[in-house]
Amino acid sequence: MRITTTPSHPHPRAWAEPYKIKMVELLTMSTREDREIAIHKAGYNTFLLKSRDVFIDLLTDSGTSAMSDRQWAGMMRGDESYAGSDNFYHLEKAVQDFYGYKYIVPTHQGRGAEHILSRIMIKPGDIIPGNMYFTTTKLHQELAGGQFADIIIDEAHDPENEHPFKGNVDLNKMDALIKKYGARKIPYVCIATAVNMAGGQPISLQNLRELRDLTQKHGIPIIHDMTRVAENAYFIREREKGYQNVSTAAIVKEICSLTDGATMSAKKDPMVNIGGFLALNDEDIFDQARNMVVIYEGLHTYGGMAGRDMEALAIGIAESVDEDHIHARVGQVQYLGDHLLAKGIPIVRPIGGHGVFLDAKRFLPHLTQKVFPSQTLAAEIYLDSGVRTMERGAVSAGRNPETGQNNYPELELVRVTIPRRVYTQAHMDVVAESIEEVYSKRDKIRGLQMTYEPKHLRFFQARFQRIP
Ligand SMILES: *Cc1c(COP(=O)(O)O)cnc(C)c1O
Repeated sequence: MRITTTPSHPHPRAWAEPYKIKMVELLTMSTREDREIAIHKAGYNTFLLKSRDVFIDLLTDSGTSAMSDRQWAGMMRGDESYAGSDNFYHLEKAVQDFYGYKYIVPTHQGRGAEHILSRIMIKPGDIIPGNMYFTTTKLHQELAGGQFADIIIDEAHDPENEHPFKGNVDLNKMDALIKKYGARKIPYVCIATAVNMAGGQPISLQNLRELRDLTQKHGIPIIHDMTRVAENAYFIREREKGYQNVSTAAIVKEICSLTDGATMSAKKDPMVNIGGFLALNDEDIFDQARNMVVIYEGLHTYGGMAGRDMEALAIGIAESVDEDHIHARVGQVQYLGDHLLAKGIPIVRPIGGHGVFLDAKRFLPHLTQKVFPSQTLAAEIYLDSGVRTMERGAVSAGRNPETGQNNYPELELVRVTIPRRVYTQAHMDVVAESIEEVYSKRDKIRGLQMTYEPKHLRFFQARFQRIP
């Protein structure tokens, strides 16, 4: 168990949930026989399981967190006027106060913001550098005619490398792109905080500042994928020199101040079930975005969200940077990761902010990427215990849009993602036991072959069968 100190915990203590339970949702227990039938029907894809067939759901932390009593009270104050809802102004103020961005366009979720931003800023043939790809972000860049270029440091692609800031940008890679394509071909750089695909790994403020210096020289803006900015800020406080006595809230604001705008999936950090926004400082781009949102999402004062959802989001933004909250949130992930490490299970290190990532290449060394080891492992964990996890490997990486060939990424992972404020320490113990059980029988596990492949974001709906 990790022992740390924070301003509100001046004495070294283990973390504890900074809330108590007011209402419970009953879970379904199933037998291995039930689960054999369920996973077969789901084509060995955990995305296609029915949630009633799942015991502990660690598929994602997206929209699955528990709202507080304050957020629920806010839901009752929804102003469902078509135009100019009170709740929009509360949300706008929360974004300005906590993140410092000037303008906001609400969207139904993160990809709604990515869609609008990509359409406005990307021209065919453009290059969009980023610190590792994200599935929906990259797809919207491609649909707009652009091409993603990975500029994350090499260490991020190595699951065993202990670099404290594996979300950092390699400035030489960025410089090389500018030299090769010219700054005019680069409409912006997309910088994610707590990089999801790398295992929830943070970027340091020093690196972001250096990137800022480089891009400003060339007039290239930075767009921030701020989905998990609070988790990133927490890691900066723990690991970056000079930030030990700075609040997570202040670090969040400093990160945002080094960027020109942001896309937010509010289903993560700010703990709402649905919602997102595009935030901007440039009035002209904001004007275009506000114009475009009415085509694809809704009027610019709700953009695909109900008034009540905007209210819950405004409250959730404040809660997401609360020191006790973020300490326990990251602490719970660490707790699970430490248990697995103690049993010798191969996971991505350092342990990330939103989940533990199993290294399927080392977990199932006898399987090649052609038979989808992460997809296989996620199905096996479900079969063992009803714990649902997610593939983040060759299936998620899709195909190269030019050659049509399968991408085989360095990182072949199973993401064990922890929703915020939902599960207890005992749940984490069960998850660890189940993964250990599967690990002990790993030699017997065979791979999968794909029987149905959707054109876009195939990991959501692809189907598989066991290799005989
Ligand atoms: C979830 C996520 C998105 C997309 O947001 P949605 O709300 O799922 O549309 C974008 N970027 C990152 C890093 C994410 O984790």
